[in-house]
Amino acid sequence: MVGKVEKICRERMRILFKLASEELPRNPSRSRRYVELIKRISTKNRVRIPKDIKSFLCKQCNLPLIPLKTLKVRIKKRKYVIYRCLNCGACRRFQLMKG
Ligand SMILES: [Zn+2]
Repeated sequence: MVGKVEKICRERMRILFKLASEELPRNPSRSRRYVELIKRISTKNRVRIPKDIKSFLCKQCNLPLIPLKTLKVRIKKRKYVIYRCLNCGACRRFQLMKG
């Protein structure tokens, strides 16, 4: 069951993520602020950041990861997907589903 607070938080995170993506080319520092807000909402309300958003936030520099702008995706040995932040160089690895 999804609580009311949780639902509102998730909606806010989605809006903030959209804003962060839009602001990235124009105003990276504002974009970063939005990402920080997403993280703050998450910790303050103990609501997890939805997976589809969390995968696209850089843990190190707090920028949204947008393909061709701040994100480079590589597939390694058909087993892993590597997300690399083009701003700070931080890498994240996701295992591909088997089968
Ligand atoms: Zn980064």
